[in-house]
Amino acid sequence: MRLLIMGPPGAGKGTQAEVLVKKLEIPHISTGDMFRAAIKEGTEMGKKAKEYMDAGQLVPDEVVVGMVKERLSKEDCAHGFLLDGFPRTIAQAEALEKTLQELDMQIDAVINIAVPREKLMERLTGRRICRACGASYHVVFNPPARPGICDKCGGELYQRDDDNEATVANRLDVYEAQTQPLIDFYQVRGLLRQIDGDQPIDKVLSDILTAIGK
Ligand SMILES: [Zn+2]
Repeated sequence: MRLLIMGPPGAGKGTQAEVLVKKLEIPHISTGDMFRAAIKEGTEMGKKAKEYMDAGQLVPDEVVVGMVKERLSKEDCAHGFLLDGFPRTIAQAEALEKTLQELDMQIDAVINIAVPREKLMERLTGRRICRACGASYHVVFNPPARPGICDKCGGELYQRDDDNEATVANRLDVYEAQTQPLIDFYQVRGLLRQIDGDQPIDKVLSDILTAIGK
């Protein structure tokens, strides 16, 4: 199966992707890993990407898409793949469509893990870290025995700046603005599978498998 997976920060996309690739025995292609591998292997596109990165510039779409093409041409993708973190824009989605045509491949389904915004806020702003030992808690899902105090060392718990409400709200806004056009793009093509991510992990997985006919 050739799949794409999408989902906002806090939706549990990473967890689902990990289990899904094991279950389906297909490679998990995340853009970050793909970049690192292409640069390390010194592929044609990897070299190009490195030039831009060394110059402190954004890697242009044609190079990113070139890297995706190199990656999808590899033997281990012959029976499918799970693409994660790409495409991020309509231009990339169109380029991917063209690239897949050249490789005589097509996407079977696009999995979108949806979670209501207030649930994402709760998940993403609830993290607390111990100042003394670095232990991590969550006010709802993994609370310490006494509020604000580390179970392990008695240290003070605090909220990182990255986890505060304004920062998280902004991250979600950026994600939504960027992703909605992609959701529409794949909806029109009949590929979108909307998955309710506001459920236990096992249930989300079984919903995904049902949605892709597995
Ligand atoms: Zn501690």
